[in-house]
Amino acid sequence: MSEPLLDRDELALLASIGRGPDARSTDIPSGGGTPFWLERMVRYCSRCGTKLEPGIPPGEDRERMHCPACGFIAYVNPRVVVTTLPVTKTGELILIRRGIEPGYGSWAQPGGFLEVDETVSEAAVRETLEETGLLVQPGELIGLYSRLEAAVVTLVFEAEVLGGQAHACAETLDVRPYAPADVPWAEIAFKSSYWGIRDWLRLRHPEVDVPQAFSGRVGL
Ligand SMILES: [Zn+2]
Repeated sequence: MSEPLLDRDELALLASIGRGPDARSTDIPSGGGTPFWLERMVRYCSRCGTKLEPGIPPGEDRERMHCPACGFIAYVNPRVVVTTLPVTKTGELILIRRGIEPGYGSWAQPGGFLEVDETVSEAAVRETLEETGLLVQPGELIGLYSRLEAAVVTLVFEAEVLGGQAHACAETLDVRPYAPADVPWAEIAFKSSYWGIRDWLRLRHPEVDVPQAFSGRVGL
């Protein structure tokens, strides 16, 4: 996961109203337009440098930041986060304990932002290797989850652990396997982790009880 682009005061402001810049769980309705924290990053025309203005541009049907001088429209779309649920040969699920905010100290699946020059499968292998030291083969797509408050779409692959050596890295405090019945729900970092693990368990281990709702930690 990448670092948030906002400074400490801005993060505190966001926290005070229950929203986060990235990878944190809140419930905001759809149709609310671009999150304000993201819109604040789109201030000037990338074509001519003029200050962008809000409003509905000609030919559009929703508000977008656009350039009064040259007509450029700054389209803002969600980013893709690619994650894996690495499963060991003995059927345990590998989770990481996050060493960075948001969600410092909480457990999540490995993953991160898709780069522009890689496929989702490549990103799954790369991010898992970076964060766990394990080499995986991505398999079935367990789910795709929208998190509007973070402006991301999180993709969750089941992945087979092929090799490597599990170890913590710069962004992880710990890497460890969990038996399917022992997932630390109260210490799960993000709603998308909850959703992905829940759906994986329903598919592979329907006998395991899963909490009805996310009850884990959130950022900051
Ligand atoms: Zn312009």
